[in-house]
Amino acid sequence: MKHISHWVDGKPWTGPVARHGEVFDPASGAVTGHVDFASEEDVDTAVAAANAAWRTWRTATLTRRAGVLFDFRAALLRRRRELATAITSEHGKVLNDADGEVARGLEVVEFACGIPALQKGEFSESVSTQIDVTSIRQPVGVCAVITPFNFPAMVPLWFTPIAIACGNTVVLKPSEKDPSASVLLAECWAEAGLPPGVFNVIHGDKVAVDALLQHRDVKAVSFVGSTPIARYVYENGTKAGKRVQALGGAKNHMVVLPDADLDLAADAAVSAGFGSAGERCMAVSTLVAVEPIGDELVSRIRERVATLRVGSGTDERSEMGPLITGPHRDKVASYLDSGVREGATLAVDGRVHPVIGGSPEGFWLGPSVLDHVTPQMSCYTDEIFGPVLGVVRASSFEEAIDLINANPYGNGTALFTTEGSHARRFQSEVEVGMVGINVPIPVPAAAFSFGGWKSSLFGDTHAYGPDGVRFFTRSKVVTSKWPRTAMPRAQLNLNFPGHQ
Ligand code: NAD
Repeated sequence: MKHISHWVDGKPWTGPVARHGEVFDPASGAVTGHVDFASEEDVDTAVAAANAAWRTWRTATLTRRAGVLFDFRAALLRRRRELATAITSEHGKVLNDADGEVARGLEVVEFACGIPALQKGEFSESVSTQIDVTSIRQPVGVCAVITPFNFPAMVPLWFTPIAIACGNTVVLKPSEKDPSASVLLAECWAEAGLPPGVFNVIHGDKVAVDALLQHRDVKAVSFVGSTPIARYVYENGTKAGKRVQALGGAKNHMVVLPDADLDLAADAAVSAGFGSAGERCMAVSTLVAVEPIGDELVSRIRERVATLRVGSGTDERSEMGPLITGPHRDKVASYLDSGVREGATLAVDGRVHPVIGGSPEGFWLGPSVLDHVTPQMSCYTDEIFGPVLGVVRASSFEEAIDLINANPYGNGTALFTTEGSHARRFQSEVEVGMVGINVPIPVPAAAFSFGGWKSSLFGDTHAYGPDGVRFFTRSKVVTSKWPRTAMPRAQLNLNFPGHQ
């Protein structure tokens, strides 16, 4: 039985712990470990370590910070397989997919290695007589990073490398459902020579989150999770005077136009709908078929879904693993019944999909398709976050765009077409933060920033990329006067200073 605990001030936690949570292997349904839950006092200890470390780390040279980032990348590459295995054992996703999330996290680390160029300020000479102006970007201090279960390595890596590269210190509060990856990340930072206290991990639940949101010495909060909690974190964090970026849930629509290559679209819908058992914030959960292609598209999707291999994430044959917990599996499956009750057609029932080699106690649900979904049904209005693809039939391209724009979420969307003018119109009119054209999961590359619109993101800055650097730094502008000759005798002048 594993025991997972906090990581504070460069070492594993040895203090007393009053509360624990259970960690499961979703493929067997068995409890495989316990994770410590932090109290308010434990959070205070971690923040104190981070605050003390910040006083020195903020002065570390850009060369030193970049050096640590390069060594962190090397440590992650060395331990990549171990990290992927830990993710699969607690999250359930198949090993290749777990490795893929580590790879996308590594891209952000590589971006942060360029910190000497990223944190550059600006300088204007002679804005006025003998007066120059410089803008500099300085770290903000202790940053809290609160993350969801579905990407236990990648989402922490969206924020922490950039926060640390910018000269901040971090307290990470990962999901209590799959906590091991965060401890492996802490070990990698230590191997990279990061000073103690710069990166800390606190496990737990609402108690730990609330303590971080209220702590005087936490200056910034990056959150990723469901929309109700993202809203809560944004409202309470900003009320406590912190800068907050809170990324929430999603309902991602993939529109297929009659001119699209239907095989390409069917492949994309199945891959993006059922990869990681649909537990991705960028998963395609709604397929919008612009008629008359609906029947043909659903038929091609059914053919493909029938061949998907569902099984344990550690079994090389598996393409899709189990869901994160039993209650979550049951909730996802309940939308198949409610969808039918509300008038949808169950085109594929994942409850009867075969499972290769998995234990019957595992949290299984095969890929499912609900056809003829309408915007009033709960399977459309709710974020299901599982392997259920809803198909909405639209009579025109305009109707498809209006449907997406009326949806409260705005994380990702995709259009499948062979017409450039349709693509151009879609990317211009659609009210969503990340748009794919013949790309079903348009997660931006690390040099851009990741973020949705509407209820998918609260705050002004997106994650990683240039927005990440903006979020983790404060700008300061220095106006200076260094006359070549001796300073002229000061003269009283009560007018507002102008430039000459
Ligand atoms: P969640 O909101 O339940 O949990 C996220 C974090 O908040 C966890 O660390 C959890 O411990 C904490 N938390 C949970 N309940 C809390 C409460 N009442 N008060 C304070 N903190 C609380 O999300 P999840 O189930 O772990 O992850 C799935 C969700 O995350 C989905 O909605 C998915 O769309 C979303 N997500 C969004 C993005 C994005 O980029 N927009 C990325 C990944 C996941």
